Amino acid sequence: MTARTTKRGDSTRDVLRFTFRHWAKEPRWLGWVIVTMMASTLADVFMPLYAGRLVDAITQFGADREAARGAVINAFLVMTGLGLALVVLRHIAFYGIVELSLRVMVKVGQDAFARVQRFSSDWHANSFAGSTVRKVTRGMWALDLLHDTVLLALLPSVVVLIGSMILLGLNWPVMGVVIAVGTVVYIGMTVFLNIVYVAPSARLANAWDTKMGGTLADALSCNAVVKAFGAEAREDARLAGVLAKWRSRTARVWMRATNSGTIQLVALLGIRAAIIGTALWLWWNGRATAGDVAYVLTTYFVIHGYLRDMGMHINNMRRSVNDMEELVAFYDEPFGVEDRAGAGAMRIGRGEIVFDRVRFHYAGHETALYQDLSLTIRAGERVGLVGPSGSGKTTLVKLIQRLYDVTGGRVLIDGQDIAGVRQASLRSQIAIVQQEPVLFHRTLAENIAYGRPGAKREEIERAAKLANAHEFIMDLPRGYETLVGERGVKLSGGERQRVAIARAFLADAPILILDEATSALDSESEVLIQEAMERLMEGRTSIVIAHRLSTVRALDRIIVFQKGRIVEEGNHAELYRQGGLYRRLCDHQGMEFTEQPVGRTAVTTA
Ligand code: ADP
Repeated sequence: MTARTTKRGDSTRDVLRFTFRHWAKEPRWLGWVIVTMMASTLADVFMPLYAGRLVDAITQFGADREAARGAVINAFLVMTGLGLALVVLRHIAFYGIVELSLRVMVKVGQDAFARVQRFSSDWHANSFAGSTVRKVTRGMWALDLLHDTVLLALLPSVVVLIGSMILLGLNWPVMGVVIAVGTVVYIGMTVFLNIVYVAPSARLANAWDTKMGGTLADALSCNAVVKAFGAEAREDARLAGVLAKWRSRTARVWMRATNSGTIQLVALLGIRAAIIGTALWLWWNGRATAGDVAYVLTTYFVIHGYLRDMGMHINNMRRSVNDMEELVAFYDEPFGVEDRAGAGAMRIGRGEIVFDRVRFHYAGHETALYQDLSLTIRAGERVGLVGPSGSGKTTLVKLIQRLYDVTGGRVLIDGQDIAGVRQASLRSQIAIVQQEPVLFHRTLAENIAYGRPGAKREEIERAAKLANAHEFIMDLPRGYETLVGERGVKLSGGERQRVAIARAFLADAPILILDEATSALDSESEVLIQEAMERLMEGRTSIVIAHRLSTVRALDRIIVFQKGRIVEEGNHAELYRQGGLYRRLCDHQGMEFTEQPVGRTAVTTA
């Protein structure tokens, strides 16, 4: 897993800042919710006042009902009107929050996906896709909870508390003070318990929740391997281990939340005693009527409702903040490879590639892989990269795609430094046929057209024909509309590779990278693929990472790598005659030397 750069203490602030930033982009809907919600809550604040008046009206006139009628009806109508206003305004406020939450959730989901997609290939190699998915979706839903908590719960609570305090305080300053002190103590205590006692354990539980997602996704996406080894029980046990940890961590959070809830309830009892006690004391001293006591009691019940739920709201707020932390942390994560400000588009014409004294050092390695690598691949040249495993062939190709930035020197394509152009524009002009082509779980037509969005059916079929893929596709039950299974599992290795070649044909990029499959293919597949590759290379600057040397014999030039250095260069015949590393590699693969020009369709002799 990638290291988190956020300091623990800062993360709550980061999450809130992140949320406020998104709110600021929706001022209209935010204003809508705040205004209607506050107005509806004011109705709650004034209700007890009229409850008090009602009781006063009844008690004042004793048995003379007629005299009391006007005041009683008045108070009753106001109370009903306030209740009605509360319902209507709340309804309008909820409409606003639906719109606000969905807008922000969509924006956040889209943003996070955009960001994660653009993280370096190293980042993706080090992260479980399943965990990342969980972080994004959990963060989106947490945002929904946070909205509801802050705007529909905390905001009204604050309005009620302050409003009641002022209203009561105007009549009896001592009452205002009691409520103010009680509220401040209660909220302070609740916040403290949540931040210091509950939140740290929740953070740990979330980490295990993420791991659970990762474990599930890892085992499920490698189901073929699991099946092959009959290892279902082993994976069950592995999940059981993670679930056991998740369980104990989550149990701790829930227990702590329960404890904190009980402490809050005890505090509420204290506040109730203080408020009612004060009201009775005022009454005893003749400073409050029966209606006043009714007023204070009703206010207390309103406040009690809000305060009791305040604990829950702060819990929810803490939970949603915790749930969003991992999503927000994506924003602290550097991209790895970044476009420079104002970077322009890459314009590849003929496709000459130059490595100019390149130095490259993988993070975590003791020494640099390339110390001072210079290499020119001419436009239209077909070059094979050969060498023992780990000698630096794949890295060369990764640097051309700028999956990493070089540590020193420059990589130029048609004279443009690739570090100064937009990555997407560079990569869209380099076609790649990967060693183990990965396909989307979409139709074959869509997979092939990925190289050129909007390609017509004829173009797709022409590319497939050139790639020797058309025939097997037509044999499939749904032809080009066949879904290929996750990552393309429903196709054989050779078929997947031909689909990838078709994709490259359609992309029609000036630069082509072929990473030859290491796994052995049946000889018929092999011939079909060789043929298609030959066709694909025509007229393009092509780089072939060759694992079987039979492939490279027909190429213009072979570059032999050893430990990050170019040790030999030349065509097959020259290098073979030279009797160096290339010769040894050939002999090792049991390949015979031939002086004859090699036919376009080289068949393996291994
Ligand atoms: P080849 O393609 O010739 O097998 P590579 O270019 O893949 O070799 O690797 C060259 C060296 O760089 C190897 O020692 C390999 O372990 C190391 N390496 C490759 N990829 C990474 C990576 N993402 N992070 C760290 N080291 C890497």
